[in-house]
Amino acid sequence: MNFVILETVQTTMKQEQEKEQSSLLHEKLKEYFGFSSFKGNQEAVIRNVLAGRDTFVLMPTGGGKSLCYQLPALLMEGVAIVISPLIALMKNQVDSMRTFSAESGIAHFLNSSLNKTAVQQVRSDVLAGKTKLLYFAPESLTKEDNVAFLRKIKISFYAIDEAHCISEWGHDFRPEYRRIRPIINEIGPAPLIALTATATPKVQMDIQKNLGMTDASVFKSSFNRPNLYYEIRPKHNVDHDIIRFIKQNEGKSGIIYCLSRKKVEELTELLLANGIKARAYHAGMDASTRAANQDDFLMERVDVIVATIAFGMGIDKPDVRYVIHYDMPKSLEGYYQETGRAGRDGGEGYCLAFYSYKDIQKLEKFMQGKPIAEQEIGKLLLLETVSYAESSMCRRKTLLHYFGEEYTEENCGNCDNCRNPKPKVDAKAELKMALEALRDIGDKFKSDYLINVLLGKNTALIKSYGHNKSKWFSAGADHDARFWGAVVRQALILGLVDKNIENYGLISINRKGENYIAMPFPVTVTLDHDYDAEEKEIEAVAPMGKGGAADEELFAMLKDLRKKVAKKHGLPPFVIFQDPSLEDMSVQYPITLEEMQNITGVGVGKARKFGEEFVKLIKAYVEEKEIIRPQDMIVKSVGNKSGNKIFIIQSIDRKMDFEDIARAKDLDFDELLTEIEGIVNSGTKLDISYYIREFMDEDKADDIYLYFKEDAESDSLDVAIKELGPDYTEEEIRLVRIKFICEQGN
Ligand code: ADP
Ligand code: MG
Ligand code: ZN
Repeated sequence: MNFVILETVQTTMKQEQEKEQSSLLHEKLKEYFGFSSFKGNQEAVIRNVLAGRDTFVLMPTGGGKSLCYQLPALLMEGVAIVISPLIALMKNQVDSMRTFSAESGIAHFLNSSLNKTAVQQVRSDVLAGKTKLLYFAPESLTKEDNVAFLRKIKISFYAIDEAHCISEWGHDFRPEYRRIRPIINEIGPAPLIALTATATPKVQMDIQKNLGMTDASVFKSSFNRPNLYYEIRPKHNVDHDIIRFIKQNEGKSGIIYCLSRKKVEELTELLLANGIKARAYHAGMDASTRAANQDDFLMERVDVIVATIAFGMGIDKPDVRYVIHYDMPKSLEGYYQETGRAGRDGGEGYCLAFYSYKDIQKLEKFMQGKPIAEQEIGKLLLLETVSYAESSMCRRKTLLHYFGEEYTEENCGNCDNCRNPKPKVDAKAELKMALEALRDIGDKFKSDYLINVLLGKNTALIKSYGHNKSKWFSAGADHDARFWGAVVRQALILGLVDKNIENYGLISINRKGENYIAMPFPVTVTLDHDYDAEEKEIEAVAPMGKGGAADEELFAMLKDLRKKVAKKHGLPPFVIFQDPSLEDMSVQYPITLEEMQNITGVGVGKARKFGEEFVKLIKAYVEEKEIIRPQDMIVKSVGNKSGNKIFIIQSIDRKMDFEDIARAKDLDFDELLTEIEGIVNSGTKLDISYYIREFMDEDKADDIYLYFKEDAESDSLDVAIKELGPDYTEEEIRLVRIKFICEQGN
């Protein structure tokens, strides 16, 4: 009995403590980073780190991994050691950390780019207890004098970012990462937090084993990125399509991935010749040009970076609005990582890939001469890519399935296949025919040969083998080459046919293929849309961000200002304020530093550092345009009603159609008028004459107006309806009455 009570008391105490900790964490989140809630697993991860346990975080790109170590680092005693793969990116992260705090020594990096004095400065800040985060590339961490220095200080924990670099199965293996564990042992133990966006189980195991953290608490988030729009387009007019796409998305940042360095250079030139601000990036360029080009992109001096996959890991630019794959990548893992660089801030992210089976064949050729085991892996990965590109299934579903996650939604609404389903064709009989033909002609031919036999093409090669006399010759002539190509690829995808890459892509039927002939099951193939770039307008994807009723004009002005401020400080614009913050400012119109702190993504530090100029601009804008700010409204009702009011006022300021306003707030016209009357009656002036002018007969409007001005004894609606008679609808009378009250009364 007593025991039970004690247990209850303990549980309640624990709950109380947790609640307390949670509100403290939220407070600090707002204070330092300006966010009012945690994203996904962040809070659970952070608690685990604070509790001193090893932590393994699997979260997609843009999921908010950095915060998982940044916030605990600020709260815990000692210095957090952050290991991150690239020197070039460290500076960005440190700059970004410094904007959150008044103490610029709060974050530092130690790497080979620093001179002696700079290193001394860092060390003295660390020893003075000013520094909470110290960034290292693995190769600097292993330097003896660094190890000796770190042994002297209190380490709160080690964070290993981009931890998949440990694994050969990851897409970015770095041998130095394998030395992290032994070095940590040398420096001294502290809890570990490893973070990656790579989700395959093989990589996960590798990481945990190698870091000696198999007992870690694992936090795996969904890898779904709902704001990313996936589209695969046949590669017919690729240059033309890309230029068009960029022009339709002018002023937005985008990345274009090409497989070869040569293509990167060519395409960059082509874009420049077409008046697009672009830069190239690949590993063959000299380091300083490469760094300068990356900088131009981050600082938004150019819109587009054309790159090989050498570009991107750890690039934290949150407002990349599109990622284009000029060529299909070698694996879905790579595709997912690269597309993942779009829309990190949760806003629009258009992922467009151009697919041609010829490209896949080229990739297969590159694998020739590599060790067989590697070829086998490469082949499987490519097959997944082909199957993804050719599938008519939801892209999101296929991708998530690849990462071991089941996506159950029927229609994701944000991929090409869901928005615009492709025609599917039944191909059971044809698949059987192709397999039988392949069995008979044997294993010495490529798929083109098989297709030509089925089509009945009298090529020299076919004649030399005598297959023009085979019973399969011309057996498939009532379909075209494109159709048969799709059938053969389907056979490969289903594993009914093997392809020998070492031997130039010869195909042969296997046991599963034999089984299919004996017992065929229904199969469909997808044909490309008949795609004609001239005719088909590229649909503009509506921004997926919170968006809403942001003031576009102000937003654009704020973006310009951000560029200027960024230039002055030598920082990338997104380090100053991110897009969602600017968007929020153009809804809330903050005109004091205090109000600025209520903006999403703006904490105390940022408001103090950069707020001034923004507040000034907004204030001038609000005054010039006589904008009624949400804060200034005398809001009588509570809850989302007041949200409606603000929205309505802003929408009327922007001369929006009443029907659109009503629809946006899910009101009927009548309810909208009631809301507007409420606003007007509480003393706010609205100018609705634009709407009356457009939708009402001018004479009628004048009559009603005159009635209220000269005849009426009160503004009673009922009396007005009676007096004016059946020629005027109630709606008309209400509209004009609103105008009258504003002009005469308010
Ligand atoms: P990752 O390293 O997982 O790719 P980042 O740490 O770079 O992601 O964060 C991605 C974006 O999410 C950044 O723009 C960051 O400011 C934003 N973010 C992180 N945590 C939150 C949060 N709790 N609320 C809103 N935005 C957040
Ligand atoms: Mg990251
Ligand atoms: Zn879909």
